[in-house]
Amino acid sequence: MTLAAEARKTLIHTPMMNFKTTLTRMLAVAAACGAAFSVQAQDKVLNLYSARHYQTDEVMYETFTKTTGIKINRVDADDAGIVARLRAEGAASPADVIMLVDAARMASADSQGLFRPIKSAKLDAAIPANLRATATADGVTWTGFSTRARVIVYDPLRVKAADVATYEQLADPKLKGLVCTRSGSHPYNLSLFATVVDRLGDQKGEAWLKGLVDNMARSPKGGDTDQITAVASGECGVALSNTYYIARLVKSDKPADRAVMERVRVVFPNQGTTGTHVNIAGAAVAKHAKNIDNAVQFMEFLASPFAQEYFANGNNEFPAAKGVKVENAALKSIGGDNFKAENIPLGVVAKNMTKVQQMLDRVGFK
Ligand code: FE
Repeated sequence: MTLAAEARKTLIHTPMMNFKTTLTRMLAVAAACGAAFSVQAQDKVLNLYSARHYQTDEVMYETFTKTTGIKINRVDADDAGIVARLRAEGAASPADVIMLVDAARMASADSQGLFRPIKSAKLDAAIPANLRATATADGVTWTGFSTRARVIVYDPLRVKAADVATYEQLADPKLKGLVCTRSGSHPYNLSLFATVVDRLGDQKGEAWLKGLVDNMARSPKGGDTDQITAVASGECGVALSNTYYIARLVKSDKPADRAVMERVRVVFPNQGTTGTHVNIAGAAVAKHAKNIDNAVQFMEFLASPFAQEYFANGNNEFPAAKGVKVENAALKSIGGDNFKAENIPLGVVAKNMTKVQQMLDRVGFK
Protein backbone atom coordinates (compact mmCIF):
# COMPACT_ATOMS: atom_id res chain seq x y z
CA MET A 1 0.00 0.00 0.00
CA THR A 2 1.38 3.43 -0.88
CA LEU A 3 1.77 6.01 1.84
CA ALA A 4 -1.03 8.00 0.29
CA ALA A 5 -3.42 5.06 0.24
CA GLU A 6 -2.48 4.13 3.78
CA ALA A 7 -3.08 7.67 4.94
CA ARG A 8 -6.48 7.75 3.23
CA LYS A 9 -7.45 4.46 4.86
CA THR A 10 -6.53 5.85 8.27
CA LEU A 11 -8.67 8.91 7.70
CA ILE A 12 -11.69 7.07 6.36
CA HIS A 13 -11.78 4.08 8.71
CA THR A 14 -10.70 5.46 12.06
CA PRO A 15 -11.93 9.03 12.34
CA MET A 16 -12.34 8.85 16.13
CA MET A 17 -8.92 7.38 16.65
CA ASN A 18 -7.57 9.99 14.28
CA PHE A 19 -9.19 12.71 16.32
CA LYS A 20 -7.72 11.31 19.54
CA THR A 21 -4.33 11.06 17.85
CA THR A 22 -4.68 14.68 16.82
CA LEU A 23 -5.52 15.77 20.34
CA THR A 24 -2.71 13.74 21.85
CA ARG A 25 -0.30 15.14 19.31
CA MET A 26 -1.45 18.70 19.89
CA LEU A 27 -0.87 18.31 23.63
CA ALA A 28 2.50 16.66 23.02
CA VAL A 29 3.51 19.39 20.62
CA ALA A 30 2.41 22.07 23.06
CA ALA A 31 4.51 20.44 25.80
CA ALA A 32 7.48 19.86 23.53
CA CYS A 33 7.39 23.24 21.81
CA GLY A 34 9.63 25.05 24.27
CA ALA A 35 12.29 22.35 24.11
CA ALA A 36 12.09 21.67 20.38
CA PHE A 37 12.02 25.32 19.44
CA SER A 38 14.97 26.26 21.60
CA VAL A 39 17.23 24.01 19.52
CA GLN A 40 18.35 25.75 16.37
CA ALA A 41 18.65 24.33 12.87
CA GLN A 42 17.74 20.72 13.56
CA ASP A 43 18.06 18.64 10.44
CA LYS A 44 14.75 16.84 10.46
CA VAL A 45 12.36 19.41 11.88
CA LEU A 46 9.94 21.92 10.45
CA ASN A 47 8.29 24.54 12.64
CA LEU A 48 4.93 25.43 11.14
CA TYR A 49 2.70 28.33 12.19
CA SER A 50 -0.73 27.64 10.75
CA ALA A 51 -4.00 29.51 10.48
CA ARG A 52 -5.59 26.41 8.97
CA HIS A 53 -7.40 24.08 11.35
CA TYR A 54 -8.87 21.14 9.46
CA GLN A 55 -8.76 17.58 10.67
CA THR A 56 -7.87 16.35 7.19
CA ASP A 57 -4.65 18.38 7.32
CA GLU A 58 -3.32 15.80 9.80
CA VAL A 59 -3.10 13.23 7.02
CA MET A 60 -1.15 15.70 4.91
CA TYR A 61 1.37 16.39 7.69
CA GLU A 62 1.73 12.73 8.66
CA THR A 63 2.40 11.78 5.06
CA PHE A 64 5.03 14.50 4.71
CA THR A 65 6.79 13.22 7.83
CA LYS A 66 6.58 9.58 6.72
CA THR A 67 7.93 10.44 3.28
CA THR A 68 10.74 12.78 4.31
CA GLY A 69 11.51 11.96 7.94
CA ILE A 70 10.97 15.64 8.75
CA LYS A 71 8.97 16.11 11.94
CA ILE A 72 6.46 18.95 11.98
CA ASN A 73 6.02 21.07 15.13
CA ARG A 74 2.84 23.00 14.66
CA VAL A 75 1.57 26.18 16.28
CA ASP A 76 -2.10 26.88 15.55
CA ALA A 77 -3.51 30.40 15.78
CA ASP A 78 -5.69 32.66 13.69
CA ASP A 79 -4.15 34.82 10.97
CA ALA A 80 -3.84 37.93 13.14
CA GLY A 81 -2.42 35.91 16.04
CA ILE A 82 0.28 34.40 13.84
CA VAL A 83 1.32 37.78 12.46
CA ALA A 84 1.42 39.29 15.97
CA ARG A 85 3.50 36.38 17.24
CA LEU A 86 5.99 36.62 14.35
CA ARG A 87 6.39 40.35 14.95
CA ALA A 88 6.93 39.84 18.67
CA GLU A 89 9.44 37.03 18.15
CA GLY A 90 11.47 38.90 15.54
CA ALA A 91 14.78 37.30 14.57
CA ALA A 92 14.41 34.78 17.41
CA SER A 93 11.29 33.28 15.82
CA PRO A 94 11.49 29.51 15.37
CA ALA A 95 8.90 29.62 12.57
CA ASP A 96 9.97 28.03 9.29
CA VAL A 97 6.71 28.01 7.33
CA ILE A 98 3.66 30.22 7.81
CA MET A 99 0.20 29.33 6.53
CA LEU A 100 -2.28 32.16 6.14
CA VAL A 101 -5.61 32.65 4.43
CA ASP A 102 -6.26 35.32 1.78
CA ALA A 103 -3.92 37.30 -0.48
CA ALA A 104 -4.61 40.52 1.46
CA ARG A 105 -3.31 38.92 4.67
CA MET A 106 -0.33 37.46 2.80
CA ALA A 107 0.40 40.86 1.25
CA SER A 108 0.14 42.58 4.62
CA ALA A 109 2.49 40.11 6.37
CA ASP A 110 4.85 40.35 3.40
CA SER A 111 4.93 44.14 3.59
CA GLN A 112 5.87 43.81 7.28
CA GLY A 113 8.97 41.85 6.23
CA LEU A 114 7.84 38.55 7.78
CA PHE A 115 8.55 36.33 4.75
CA ARG A 116 11.67 35.12 3.03
CA PRO A 117 11.69 34.91 -0.78
CA ILE A 118 12.48 31.44 -2.14
CA LYS A 119 13.40 29.97 -5.49
CA SER A 120 11.84 26.64 -6.43
CA ALA A 121 11.58 25.29 -9.97
CA LYS A 122 8.97 22.78 -8.68
CA LEU A 123 6.71 25.54 -7.36
CA ASP A 124 7.26 27.63 -10.48
CA ALA A 125 6.09 24.67 -12.56
CA ALA A 126 3.20 23.58 -10.33
CA ILE A 127 1.47 26.78 -9.19
CA PRO A 128 0.21 29.45 -11.63
CA ALA A 129 2.18 32.67 -11.20
CA ASN A 130 -1.00 34.73 -10.69
CA LEU A 131 -1.68 32.78 -7.45
CA ARG A 132 1.66 33.79 -5.92
CA ALA A 133 3.35 36.97 -4.76
CA THR A 134 5.00 39.02 -7.49
CA ALA A 135 8.41 37.48 -8.26
CA THR A 136 11.54 39.53 -7.64
CA ALA A 137 15.22 38.80 -8.32
CA ASP A 138 15.35 37.13 -4.89
CA GLY A 139 12.46 34.78 -5.65
CA VAL A 140 8.83 34.59 -4.54
CA THR A 141 7.60 35.15 -0.97
CA TRP A 142 4.13 33.62 -0.65
CA THR A 143 2.41 30.91 -2.69
CA GLY A 144 -1.28 29.98 -2.92
CA PHE A 145 -2.06 26.29 -2.40
CA SER A 146 -5.83 26.39 -2.70
CA THR A 147 -8.32 28.79 -4.22
CA ARG A 148 -11.78 30.00 -3.32
CA ALA A 149 -14.04 32.03 -5.56
CA ARG A 150 -15.87 35.16 -4.34
CA VAL A 151 -19.33 34.75 -5.82
CA ILE A 152 -22.69 36.51 -5.82
CA VAL A 153 -25.64 35.04 -3.91
CA TYR A 154 -29.09 36.43 -4.74
CA ASP A 155 -32.80 36.05 -4.04
CA PRO A 156 -34.48 34.86 -7.26
CA LEU A 157 -37.82 36.31 -6.07
CA ARG A 158 -36.43 39.86 -5.97
CA VAL A 159 -33.50 39.90 -8.39
CA LYS A 160 -33.08 38.72 -11.97
CA ALA A 161 -30.02 36.60 -12.80
CA ALA A 162 -29.25 38.94 -15.69
CA ASP A 163 -28.91 41.85 -13.23
CA VAL A 164 -26.21 40.17 -11.14
CA ALA A 165 -24.03 38.60 -13.82
CA THR A 166 -21.03 40.81 -12.98
CA TYR A 167 -19.39 42.50 -9.99
CA GLU A 168 -19.81 45.79 -11.86
CA GLN A 169 -23.62 45.38 -11.81
CA LEU A 170 -23.64 45.37 -8.00
CA ALA A 171 -23.20 49.16 -8.25
CA ASP A 172 -26.09 49.58 -10.70
CA PRO A 173 -28.97 51.70 -9.26
CA LYS A 174 -31.29 48.80 -10.25
CA LEU A 175 -30.07 47.05 -7.11
CA LYS A 176 -30.75 49.98 -4.77
CA GLY A 177 -31.51 48.83 -1.22
CA LEU A 178 -30.69 45.20 -2.00
CA VAL A 179 -26.94 44.72 -1.53
CA CYS A 180 -25.42 43.24 1.65
CA THR A 181 -21.75 42.72 2.42
CA ARG A 182 -19.46 42.11 5.33
CA SER A 183 -17.06 44.93 6.25
CA GLY A 184 -15.33 46.53 3.26
CA SER A 185 -12.02 46.32 5.11
CA HIS A 186 -12.25 42.57 5.64
CA PRO A 187 -9.40 40.84 3.73
CA TYR A 188 -11.87 38.94 1.49
CA ASN A 189 -13.40 42.21 0.30
CA LEU A 190 -10.12 44.14 0.22
CA SER A 191 -8.68 41.52 -2.13
CA LEU A 192 -11.70 41.53 -4.42
CA PHE A 193 -11.87 45.33 -4.47
CA ALA A 194 -8.12 45.58 -5.15
CA THR A 195 -8.53 43.48 -8.29
CA VAL A 196 -11.67 45.35 -9.44
CA VAL A 197 -9.88 48.70 -8.99
CA ASP A 198 -6.93 47.31 -10.93
CA ARG A 199 -9.21 46.40 -13.84
CA LEU A 200 -11.41 49.50 -13.84
CA GLY A 201 -8.78 52.08 -12.93
CA ASP A 202 -8.87 54.38 -9.88
CA GLN A 203 -11.69 56.70 -10.90
CA LYS A 204 -14.15 54.04 -12.08
CA GLY A 205 -13.06 51.74 -9.27
CA GLU A 206 -13.91 54.30 -6.60
CA ALA A 207 -17.21 55.11 -8.33
CA TRP A 208 -18.01 51.40 -8.24
CA LEU A 209 -17.34 51.24 -4.49
CA LYS A 210 -19.54 54.32 -4.00
CA GLY A 211 -22.28 52.58 -6.03
CA LEU A 212 -22.06 49.54 -3.75
CA VAL A 213 -22.50 51.76 -0.69
CA ASP A 214 -25.48 53.53 -2.32
CA ASN A 215 -27.12 50.15 -2.99
CA MET A 216 -26.74 48.70 0.50
CA ALA A 217 -29.72 47.20 2.28
CA ARG A 218 -27.99 47.70 5.62
CA SER A 219 -24.67 48.74 7.09
CA PRO A 220 -21.97 46.05 6.58
CA LYS A 221 -21.90 43.48 9.36
CA GLY A 222 -21.32 39.78 10.03
CA GLY A 223 -19.46 37.18 8.01
CA ASP A 224 -20.17 35.65 4.62
CA THR A 225 -22.58 33.05 6.01
CA ASP A 226 -24.57 35.85 7.67
CA GLN A 227 -24.97 37.55 4.28
CA ILE A 228 -26.28 34.33 2.69
CA THR A 229 -28.81 33.75 5.47
CA ALA A 230 -29.88 37.41 5.22
CA VAL A 231 -30.61 36.89 1.51
CA ALA A 232 -32.60 33.75 2.34
CA SER A 233 -34.60 35.60 5.02
CA GLY A 234 -35.44 38.48 2.66
CA GLU A 235 -33.44 41.14 4.52
CA CYS A 236 -31.05 41.39 1.57
CA GLY A 237 -31.48 40.71 -2.14
CA VAL A 238 -27.84 40.26 -3.17
CA ALA A 239 -24.63 39.41 -1.30
CA LEU A 240 -21.03 38.36 -1.78
CA SER A 241 -19.63 35.13 -0.37
CA ASN A 242 -16.63 32.85 -0.66
CA THR A 243 -17.56 29.51 -2.20
CA TYR A 244 -16.55 27.34 0.77
CA TYR A 245 -19.19 28.97 3.01
CA ILE A 246 -21.80 28.03 0.42
CA ALA A 247 -20.46 24.47 0.15
CA ARG A 248 -20.69 24.13 3.96
CA LEU A 249 -24.38 25.08 3.87
CA VAL A 250 -25.04 22.75 0.91
CA LYS A 251 -23.52 19.74 2.69
CA SER A 252 -24.66 20.68 6.22
CA ASP A 253 -26.47 18.03 8.24
CA LYS A 254 -28.79 20.75 9.58
CA PRO A 255 -32.00 20.99 7.51
CA ALA A 256 -32.17 24.77 8.24
CA ASP A 257 -28.83 25.28 6.48
CA ARG A 258 -29.92 23.36 3.42
CA ALA A 259 -33.20 25.29 3.41
CA VAL A 260 -31.18 28.52 3.21
CA MET A 261 -29.49 27.25 0.05
CA GLU A 262 -32.85 26.28 -1.45
CA ARG A 263 -34.00 29.90 -1.10
CA VAL A 264 -31.02 31.50 -2.85
CA ARG A 265 -29.15 31.26 -6.16
CA VAL A 266 -25.41 31.44 -6.78
CA VAL A 267 -23.69 33.24 -9.65
CA PHE A 268 -20.04 32.99 -10.62
CA PRO A 269 -19.67 36.62 -11.77
CA ASN A 270 -17.99 37.94 -14.91
CA GLN A 271 -18.15 34.65 -16.82
CA GLY A 272 -18.68 36.52 -20.08
CA THR A 273 -15.85 38.96 -19.37
CA THR A 274 -12.86 38.83 -17.03
CA GLY A 275 -13.77 35.77 -14.92
CA THR A 276 -14.70 35.30 -11.26
CA HIS A 277 -12.36 36.64 -8.59
CA VAL A 278 -10.45 33.88 -6.86
CA ASN A 279 -8.38 34.21 -3.74
CA ILE A 280 -5.98 31.82 -2.03
CA ALA A 281 -5.02 30.08 1.14
CA GLY A 282 -1.29 29.67 1.07
CA ALA A 283 2.08 29.48 2.71
CA ALA A 284 5.39 31.29 2.88
CA VAL A 285 8.84 30.62 4.32
CA ALA A 286 9.41 32.73 7.41
CA LYS A 287 11.93 35.56 7.26
CA HIS A 288 14.03 34.06 10.08
CA ALA A 289 13.50 30.37 9.21
CA LYS A 290 16.29 28.15 10.51
CA ASN A 291 15.29 25.04 8.51
CA ILE A 292 15.05 26.61 5.09
CA ASP A 293 15.61 23.48 3.00
CA ASN A 294 12.91 21.62 4.95
CA ALA A 295 10.61 24.61 4.53
CA VAL A 296 11.02 24.67 0.75
CA GLN A 297 10.57 20.90 0.63
CA PHE A 298 7.32 21.26 2.59
CA MET A 299 6.07 23.99 0.25
CA GLU A 300 6.85 21.75 -2.74
CA PHE A 301 5.01 18.88 -1.04
CA LEU A 302 1.93 21.09 -0.62
CA ALA A 303 1.85 21.51 -4.40
CA SER A 304 1.84 17.73 -5.01
CA PRO A 305 -1.43 16.15 -6.22
CA PHE A 306 -1.70 14.15 -2.98
CA ALA A 307 -1.42 17.17 -0.67
CA GLN A 308 -3.55 19.29 -2.97
CA GLU A 309 -6.52 17.00 -2.43
CA TYR A 310 -6.35 17.44 1.34
CA PHE A 311 -5.46 21.11 1.19
CA ALA A 312 -8.43 21.87 -1.08
CA ASN A 313 -11.08 19.55 0.36
CA GLY A 314 -10.20 20.31 3.98
CA ASN A 315 -12.10 23.57 3.51
CA ASN A 316 -14.17 22.91 0.36
CA GLU A 317 -11.72 24.82 -1.80
CA PHE A 318 -10.26 24.29 -5.25
CA PRO A 319 -6.71 23.00 -5.80
CA ALA A 320 -4.21 25.64 -6.89
CA ALA A 321 -1.75 23.36 -8.71
CA LYS A 322 -2.03 23.17 -12.47
CA GLY A 323 -3.83 20.14 -13.84
CA VAL A 324 -4.98 18.84 -10.42
CA LYS A 325 -8.70 18.07 -10.14
CA VAL A 326 -10.40 17.38 -6.81
CA GLU A 327 -13.88 15.91 -6.46
CA ASN A 328 -16.24 17.94 -4.25
CA ALA A 329 -19.95 17.31 -4.79
CA ALA A 330 -21.06 20.42 -2.88
CA LEU A 331 -18.90 22.73 -4.99
CA LYS A 332 -19.99 20.91 -8.14
CA SER A 333 -23.66 21.46 -7.25
CA ILE A 334 -23.17 25.24 -7.45
CA GLY A 335 -21.17 25.14 -10.68
CA GLY A 336 -17.74 25.12 -9.03
CA ASP A 337 -16.44 22.36 -11.28
CA ASN A 338 -16.50 24.50 -14.39
CA PHE A 339 -16.13 28.26 -14.25
CA LYS A 340 -13.84 30.88 -15.68
CA ALA A 341 -11.52 32.29 -13.01
CA GLU A 342 -10.00 35.75 -13.22
CA ASN A 343 -6.28 35.43 -14.00
CA ILE A 344 -5.19 38.80 -12.64
CA PRO A 345 -2.02 38.37 -10.54
CA LEU A 346 -2.91 38.44 -6.83
CA GLY A 347 0.25 40.49 -6.41
CA VAL A 348 -1.92 43.50 -7.36
CA VAL A 349 -3.66 43.10 -4.01
CA ALA A 350 -0.42 44.12 -2.30
CA LYS A 351 -0.01 47.05 -4.65
CA ASN A 352 -3.57 48.37 -4.27
CA MET A 353 -4.46 47.58 -0.67
CA THR A 354 -3.69 50.94 0.93
CA LYS A 355 -5.28 52.79 -1.96
CA VAL A 356 -8.47 50.73 -1.72
CA GLN A 357 -8.68 51.27 2.04
CA GLN A 358 -8.48 55.04 1.43
CA MET A 359 -11.22 54.78 -1.20
CA LEU A 360 -13.41 52.85 1.24
CA ASP A 361 -12.96 55.62 3.80
CA ARG A 362 -13.85 58.31 1.24
CA VAL A 363 -17.03 56.61 0.01
CA GLY A 364 -18.15 55.66 3.54
CA PHE A 365 -17.86 51.87 3.05
CA LYS A 366 -17.64 50.66 6.66
FE1 FE B 1 -13.29 32.38 5.71
